[in-house]
Amino acid sequence: MSFNALVVRKDDEGKTSAQVEQIELEDLPAGEVVVAVEYSTVNYKDGLCLGPGGGLVRDYPHVPGIDLAGTVESSDDARYSPGDKVVLTGWRVGENRWGGYAQKARVKADHLVPLPDGLSTRDAMAVGTAGFTAMLAVMALEDHGLKPDTGPVLVTGAAGGVGSVATAILAARGYEVAGVTGRPETADYLRSLGATQIVAREEINETVKRPLEAETWAGCVDAVGGAMLGRVLGQMKYGASVAAVGLAGGAGLPATVVPFLLRGVNLLGIDSVMQPYDNRVRAWQRVASDLPMDKLAQMIQPAGLGDLPKLGANILKGQVKGRVLVDVN
Ligand code: NDP
Repeated sequence: MSFNALVVRKDDEGKTSAQVEQIELEDLPAGEVVVAVEYSTVNYKDGLCLGPGGGLVRDYPHVPGIDLAGTVESSDDARYSPGDKVVLTGWRVGENRWGGYAQKARVKADHLVPLPDGLSTRDAMAVGTAGFTAMLAVMALEDHGLKPDTGPVLVTGAAGGVGSVATAILAARGYEVAGVTGRPETADYLRSLGATQIVAREEINETVKRPLEAETWAGCVDAVGGAMLGRVLGQMKYGASVAAVGLAGGAGLPATVVPFLLRGVNLLGIDSVMQPYDNRVRAWQRVASDLPMDKLAQMIQPAGLGDLPKLGANILKGQVKGRVLVDVN
């Protein structure tokens, strides 16, 4: 029985192209569990893998999709049985293994997480890696002492996927949220998610001139990196932490060490890809309890497999607002 998949192929000149094709179960890579995929999504990395690959994809033809959620169809692993609802993010699935942009996926049981109570496969992919990572960032900040009464929390790249989910989670937990955006037209959207302050990107995007500025932020979820992260470090309150999640604005870090030495600022690295199983379970449970579903609904842009090449290009240009929810069926 054939089914639909979004397949990226590379021609003799090294040019990639992506199209929906019919494939069969035997085309799928080895793994213990076959999942009937219901939903996937579009993250920044998916944008790379849908195009020339950004160095992430080695072998073609390739089925991208770093996230998937669906129902177990068959399993050779005792932990999973047909009918189980599961979610998969990270582990380089969709990069060096075939991913979620297909109606079926064969995956490693170790890569799956059972869907927590209160979250549907649709909810899970509205959240996706971007939202899961936003949750990890909030958990890391709180593990390092962030509390709602310690002051405003900055979210950079706020109208993007990580930023939107971080904004909604933080606001729902009682934090005062300031969102940095380069798209002023998203201000109402960010306020609807719970941001009370909108910071224009150009206000905070310049390279550090003074190593320390006014102590302003009690915490930061940073999806942007680059010059913005350098600036933010000098604006953190004494002992506060920045969760470094992304590099939408650049992989460099033009900064000084002064905020670390004179203000005890912490820079916390957040990785979603190799996150251990127990913490994944904890993070998904926290998503189910901390992210208001009405806010999640406001972030969603629905899509199908055929929309992915365009959406992939858009996310690389920073033009996707919130989260894309891909119904693969
Ligand atoms: P999105 O494209 O949805 O969001 C990124 C946002 O960053 C944009 O919406 C935009 O927000 C802002 N932005 C884009 N370009 C620039 C720029 N040149 N300068 C400043 N701001 C910019 O992507 P995601 O939210 O999915 O991912 C965000 C980042 O996090 C990516 O770099 C991604 O690779 C990384 N990431 C890392 C993970 C990890 O495990 N560490 C997991 C998931 C993502 P606005 O319009 O509001 O300014």
